[in-house]
Amino acid sequence: MTDAPAKGPDEKFCSECAAVISSRAEICPKCGVRQMAPPASISLGATTPNGKSRVSAAILAFFLGGLGVHKFYLGQVGWGVIYLLFCWTFIPSIVAFVEFILLLTMSDEYFNHRFGRS
Ligand SMILES: [Zn+2]
Repeated sequence: MTDAPAKGPDEKFCSECAAVISSRAEICPKCGVRQMAPPASISLGATTPNGKSRVSAAILAFFLGGLGVHKFYLGQVGWGVIYLLFCWTFIPSIVAFVEFILLLTMSDEYFNHRFGRS
């Protein structure tokens, strides 16, 4: 039980050299490699150069997509107005739900490419 490298509750393995380091360490003291943040916080915190967030857009599409709010958020004001005008038909709600799925599943790179330019 004691011959394997022990990892305490507030420790983690370095992503580069697998040394046991503090879970709060940003840079491994052994090999000097910067530790990667958990994937969840990368995708949640990721924004395009003009401040758009893929996850925020997806959340808007899910809750307010029928009103085109995510379109306004993404700078596609013309589409936002169309969604607003036709919101009573519920068609925008259906389209927005599809867009919600697309926004959730698309890569940050693609999102940046498509919506990152203001
Ligand atoms: Zn290391």
